[in-house]
Amino acid sequence: MIAEIESMYEPGWAESWDAVGLVCGDPEAAVRKILFAVDPVAVVAAEALDWRADLIVVHHPLYLRGTTSVAATTAKGRLVHTLIGNGVALYTAHTNADVADPGVSDALARAVGLTGDLVPLAPAPGDPRRGLGRIGSLPAPMTLAAFAERAARGLPRTAWGVRVAGDPDRILHKVAVSGGAGDSLLSAAHAAGVDAFLTADLRHHPAGEFVEEGGPALLDAAHWATEWPWLADAAARLASRLGARGITVETRVSATVTDAWTTTAQCEDTK
Ligand SMILES: [Zn+2]
Repeated sequence: MIAEIESMYEPGWAESWDAVGLVCGDPEAAVRKILFAVDPVAVVAAEALDWRADLIVVHHPLYLRGTTSVAATTAKGRLVHTLIGNGVALYTAHTNADVADPGVSDALARAVGLTGDLVPLAPAPGDPRRGLGRIGSLPAPMTLAAFAERAARGLPRTAWGVRVAGDPDRILHKVAVSGGAGDSLLSAAHAAGVDAFLTADLRHHPAGEFVEEGGPALLDAAHWATEWPWLADAAARLASRLGARGITVETRVSATVTDAWTTTAQCEDTK
């Protein structure tokens, strides 16, 4: 099972600071049911137990910076105990899934309505078919406001929705997307000459300065929502690869929203 996952998302493709691979579980254990989720958190573990999953494949690492204890005195330690105690393995495919072909941003691009060939926004050194972000085209030119609506319809509901920076009447043809925090790709999006860039976790100063400089319009969606479309793609690809080898597994995509932001409230107009 691990070998099959790693043939789709090679651990060697991950960034040097990342922590990917098997977090807990016995690689020799039989796996029949696999739950796919963005975050390794308690509600996802509860869903895995309810459904009697043998393995959870998540996008985000549980321990990114290492630890000296997995005691059940912290949320992460409790999660490790819950999973091991119930015989559930946990596997992370993070930046190696971001840069895969197809990877996280391919699924995001399709979810928000991009068509045609998708090419990486920041191609991986040595293999330009892989890389961070994707550039694609809209089926027909549309305004920024219309694309924001289209993107919002294609993504799962979160408190955040989709925020937009730029002229709502701007006409878009070519759009770049990147699942997760896309700050570091702002200049690549500008250099690529796209009309808009959709990602998550953008900040006031970089976003404002970028738009002021005449860069692409920006769309900022909830972090979880930009990565969630990948789960169905990963699940389908893994099941089909295993099926070709005569191995049947049941897969399920967690629909539990685990974005950090859960509610919004609008403020009063300035007078
Ligand atoms: Zn992420």
